[in-house]
Amino acid sequence: MPILDTYTIYFLIFMGNLVMCLMLLIFAKTTGFEVLMRYYTYAKLLQTSGAGVLLFRGIVPVDFSVIVGNGLVFLGIALEVCCIVHIDRVPLKSVVKRWLQVAAGLAVGFALLYLAGANIGIRAFISAMSIAVYSLVAAAGLFFRSNSTNLRRVVALFFLILAACQVVRALYAFSLGPNHAPFSLSLSQMFAFISIYLHMLISTMSFLLMSREVIDIRLQEAATKDFLTGIYNRAQFMQMSEKLLSLMIRQQRPVTVFMIDCDNFKAINDTYGHAVGDSVLVNFSQDTQAILRKEDLFGRYGGEEFIIFSPNTTDSDALIMGKKIQSAILLSAAGDLTIPKYTISIGTATMIPEALADMEKLIKRADQALLQAKRNGRNQIVQF
Ligand code: GH3
Ligand code: MG
Ligand code: MG
Repeated sequence: MPILDTYTIYFLIFMGNLVMCLMLLIFAKTTGFEVLMRYYTYAKLLQTSGAGVLLFRGIVPVDFSVIVGNGLVFLGIALEVCCIVHIDRVPLKSVVKRWLQVAAGLAVGFALLYLAGANIGIRAFISAMSIAVYSLVAAAGLFFRSNSTNLRRVVALFFLILAACQVVRALYAFSLGPNHAPFSLSLSQMFAFISIYLHMLISTMSFLLMSREVIDIRLQEAATKDFLTGIYNRAQFMQMSEKLLSLMIRQQRPVTVFMIDCDNFKAINDTYGHAVGDSVLVNFSQDTQAILRKEDLFGRYGGEEFIIFSPNTTDSDALIMGKKIQSAILLSAAGDLTIPKYTISIGTATMIPEALADMEKLIKRADQALLQAKRNGRNQIVQF
């Protein structure tokens, strides 16, 4: 098997980072610099200059190359991993600062070791192990999170493999000690450098793909969810409930539609202000969501009016559910001093679907029941 020239591979890593930097800068020029993208570009700039300083050792003085080159690479990798684990939420400035401080500590420690006479094997060991640790942090940050996507899990797996490659590289360098020559022609050095090259490619590609995925998820949410409460908007609710209703018709299962309206909401707004009114709506949505089952659909029908579609729910189930919601909001408003005590009226319509049943009919009936609840004096459940 032919052995590739490691110096050339390292040159390609340098060029890859350089091109990536330029592309990111051009991209940012046209689209505006989003915070995370800006940090990521800084990370690439740090890595590119670090790689350049390491690569042109001889042209740049050796001490400078070792101390500054490695330092820049440590800072760049730390910032890059920081961006990757914060892919869907921009980190606070103080958090970024902490990441950089840790990397700066690493760089200073590395410089001191070098000045104390640590041989190249030990230095390569430390450098490779640091990259391995950062890769593991990236993998863990992507994998162990509540909103991990398939893409994030695959990227995490990549980082895990890259970490393993770096550990092998570290152990190999350590075993050779002062005889370690980073740019020597050997099979193991070739694999080590190819793994760094892949690291550069995979890391940047995954950052860009994951950024794109975050935008897609946000657009999807904006189109289907209510901005204030985070539950389905009316259009999405209707689309999903129509589908679920036809499934229930085929299975001849009972379904219930709940129409829920906050009582005297205008008075709440007038007395406490619109912001408190908003908090009440958010509070109501959270309390109700916590009671619903996974298969129930919950949407904001309009202003302070909500709708629930519950499959496999008879009228006696519906009554129990309604009461649960009423007592949950009573309890939570009592425990939360930021919102006033409030009540809701509920109208329900249950049917074992015939082929004729449609959402419109169900909603109309639930609406009539709700109207009756208001007429009866509010704060109650009326079933059609
Ligand atoms: P009722 O018991 O008969 O339902 O009385 P109500 O005052 O709740 O009914 P009405 O329809 O007269 O008033 C609804 C109010 O809800 C008026 C509107 O300003 C308010 N509202 C609608 N959407 C929002 C919102 O997103 N935030 C806030 N704070 N208020 C809202
Ligand atoms: Mg109302
Ligand atoms: Mg209303």
